[in-house]
Order: sequence, then structure tokens, then C-alpha cells
Amino acid sequence: MADGSDSSDNGPIHHPSLYFPDGDIIFSVLNEGRPTLLRVHRLVLAHFSLSFRDILSIPSHSEANEMKEGVPVVSMLDPYIDFVGLINALYSPETLPLRDLERRPNRGPVTIRGICALAKKYQVDSVLKRIAGRLEAIWPATLRQYVAARGTFTSDVGYVVSHLMWARVEHAHPEPALAIRLAMEVGARSVLSAAFYRLAISDPSVDWDDSEPEEMDTLSARWGILDQTDWTRYNYGKDDLAIRFQELPLDTYEQEVPSGRCGDEDGCFSAIKKLRAFHRGQLNIGFARQPDIIGRTLTLHEEIDKGGFCFYCKPTLQVIVSSFLKDVWDDLSEIFGLTE
Ligand SMILES: [Zn+2]
Repeated sequence: MADGSDSSDNGPIHHPSLYFPDGDIIFSVLNEGRPTLLRVHRLVLAHFSLSFRDILSIPSHSEANEMKEGVPVVSMLDPYIDFVGLINALYSPETLPLRDLERRPNRGPVTIRGICALAKKYQVDSVLKRIAGRLEAIWPATLRQYVAARGTFTSDVGYVVSHLMWARVEHAHPEPALAIRLAMEVGARSVLSAAFYRLAISDPSVDWDDSEPEEMDTLSARWGILDQTDWTRYNYGKDDLAIRFQELPLDTYEQEVPSGRCGDEDGCFSAIKKLRAFHRGQLNIGFARQPDIIGRTLTLHEEIDKGGFCFYCKPTLQVIVSSFLKDVWDDLSEIFGLTE
């Protein structure tokens, strides 16, 4: 045949785009039982990967190796899709399927994970760095970034202003389990707090691949790809968050108000009673199952804003609530056992 492919059913075939006529090494990878040949350039491989260099130390002409068209053939045992994905990413970086990491990728097989595993195996740092960079760009590293989609922070006092957009902002964040697995692989640790938090507030009975993209009320995750350590972190962290919300310091508020500062003692007394009842009402069974402590604390912040408090008590209480929120965020890595 003109292209050199074997026409028999099980003979090797050329990869449609990764078979360069001037390539000086051929990889043979099984694709559903059939060898597929990738003819590539040693120079490119050596440039991107330290460990490919070992493979490339094979002499160009050697009787010990299988040769094809004067070029040595190396059989690779890696999964076809992943190997082709990695080689493709070397020649055309834009083909790296980073959109698997995004908020609403199409459902279906995730290829970035297998490519990432191979990039690690063959020490292709450029690919690992691109994955890390993308994860860091789409996952919030700070409370400010996390809440940004929900509302805004006042810059001076640092607490959350009211009239927040209640626009299901958790959906602004991508699926967390894949992010966790990849972040662990590529060392993008700054995304782990937010990703584990997002996992903790997901519905454990709904799998990402089974939920419809338009089901905006359900927070799902790819539960099946978590490993044992992830599960331990998830379980302990989730329990910790549920308990933590009970510790919001509202009970001692009256004692903390300096005498003479409150502008309406009767009104504020009854308002704080109502606020406490509201807080207790949020500690229901649903909360323990998906303990969205950030969301609930922001709701409380809004309740304070809605009325009943004097000009002194309102901002004072909002600062208490905001500092609580900040402490929770700062402690997330500890809550999920991510500190080393
Ligand atoms: Zn007051």
C-alpha cells in the first residue's frame, strides 16, 4: 500500500496525524488489539521529556530492534488514547483536553486524567505545569475569590456586603473530584481547600455523569474516582464543618456590647433572639449531609442586614459573622487534613 500500512485486518496501521515521514522513531501502541504506529521525532521527545531520553538512546540502526522503513520501532504498553493524547500535546499543546477540567464539559470519558498519569510517568513537566496552571486559574484560592461569584467584599472592612446574588454559585466551580485527583498528581495544592469544600457540599447520592447539565439544583461529583485518602478527608472534613457551624459566636453577643453603644436595646435584644433561632433552624439534617457552612453563614449575614438591629449592633454582628467565615476558610486545609 502507498502509505505503508498493512491491509490485513490485524496488521499495523499508521496514526492519521502522528505519522511524520521524516520521523526518526516509531512507537507501536495497541488500539483495541491492533498496533497503531506513531512516527515521531526524537528531538521533540527529548526536548519535552527526561525519561523519553532513555527510550531514545536506542541506536538508529540496530539489529536488536525491529525496524520499519529504516527507523526503529518501539512497542509501548500504555493505553492508546492516553499515549496519543500525550504525544499530541507535545506537538500541539492546544490539543491537551483542559476543558475536561472546566465547569460544564460535555459528559463522557475524561481523557485528561490518563494523559496526566502518563505525563507524570514520562516526566513531561510542560504538560503537568499546564494542567496545574489551569486548575489554579479556575479554582478559587481565597475566600474572596470563592465568594466573588456570590457577592462582593467591601474592601475596607473585609466583610461581605448584602444583596448578594444567590445565583447558585457553587455551580460556577467545576466538578471537584477530578480536580482533587489531578491537583494531587500535579502538586497544585492551592486548589485543594476549595475543591474539598465543594465536594463536602455535594450530594453524595448524585454522580456527576448521571446528572443533567441543566440540573442546577443538584451539586454532584465524580464520586467513583476518589481514592481511600480522599474519602477519609471528605468524611472527617464534612463532620467537622457540620459541627463548626454550631460554634458561630452569637450566644455571647449581649455581653460583648459596651454599655451605651447599642441604640435600641429592646429592639436588638429581640432581633438577636430571632437571629439565634434562625441560626439553629439552619442546623437541620440536610445541613449535616451537605454542610455548606459558607452559604449558611452568608445567609445569616443577610438576615442581619434585613433589619431589627441598631446602627451599632448591625455592623458589629456582621463583623462577627464575617470573621467567623474567614476563620472557617483559613482552617479548611486543616479541616480536610491537607496540612503536612
Ligand atoms: Zn443595638
